[in-house]
Amino acid sequence: MFQKIAVIGAGTMGNGIAHVFAVQGYEVHLIDVNTGQLVKALQTINKNLERQVVKGTISADDHIAAYARINTFSSIEEGVQEVQLVVEAATENIDLKLNIFKELDKYAPEGAILASNTSSISITRIAGVTKRPGTVIGMHFMNPVPVMKLVEVINGYGTAETVTESIVELTRKIGKIPCVVNDYPGFIANRILMPMINEAIYSLYEGVAGVASIDNIMKLGMAHPMGPLQLADFIGLDTCHSILQVMQDGFGNPKYAPCPLLTNMVNAGKLGVKTGEGFYTYTAGSKDLKVSERFSK
Ligand code: NAD
Repeated sequence: MFQKIAVIGAGTMGNGIAHVFAVQGYEVHLIDVNTGQLVKALQTINKNLERQVVKGTISADDHIAAYARINTFSSIEEGVQEVQLVVEAATENIDLKLNIFKELDKYAPEGAILASNTSSISITRIAGVTKRPGTVIGMHFMNPVPVMKLVEVINGYGTAETVTESIVELTRKIGKIPCVVNDYPGFIANRILMPMINEAIYSLYEGVAGVASIDNIMKLGMAHPMGPLQLADFIGLDTCHSILQVMQDGFGNPKYAPCPLLTNMVNAGKLGVKTGEGFYTYTAGSKDLKVSERFSK
């Protein structure tokens, strides 16, 4: 059923999603309003494909073929022509996503499935701006996409059963494991993860422990591969902040309110790995994890 897939947003998640589909033989239209981001995404995909060749998980020929299957576009109208599936992975902002889905309703072929990789925004709300809510679904990949097995498949209020079945089947075909959930704020993954991250930030804010201790306690004590503060840096502090706000609004419950320290860091542009600084500092090419100077005293 699927041959051509459009991926909207060429950031952290979009480049990973494009990578996975291309390796599995699908033609990918990677769309971003920021052309610099498209160039960066292609470089990242190329580097990650190369890494897979070195590891022996794909051949050098597979690398070349997968890379050649990705075409880039800066307009949704052009990029969604003749696709059977769109996976939207643009910035986590409700107005921006509603506008994208209005455009998709206008330009995507009839019958195409319109999926969103949103971490928290209501699929039902997104579907509501289209005249085809039955074909709108959540396809929530995990970061880093080429490595992580889970895809949380989110049924909106009006998602057609056949659409869910197609997405479940596609998810298995690309070597991932689908888990189907219903559309409530944060779905399952973030409803459970984000309160933990927020609590870790509160622990730092209240001076209970430092960055390294908080992360080590969760790594060594709970067998988490990464501590919650490092994970927050990795996800993007702006993304964490907006997911918490969506849950706070959606449930009307202040327990989800972002910690003021998280809000301050987002306002200061310290967003984690993508800006080079969050709870840790990140230097290109360095694998050492260094606590940000701000928190090292
Ligand atoms: P990001 O900031 O790295 O990338 C977002 C990209 O969207 C940018 O390149 C931006 O230029 C582009 N964009 C913005 N407006 C656009 C538009 N109108 N049309 C096309 N492109 C546009 O963000 P990200 O971390 O990749 O997150 C993308 C989505 O994936 C969000 O909904 C987020 O919640 C979700 N998500 C993120 C993670 C994570 O760990 N980062 C995990 C799962 C899901």
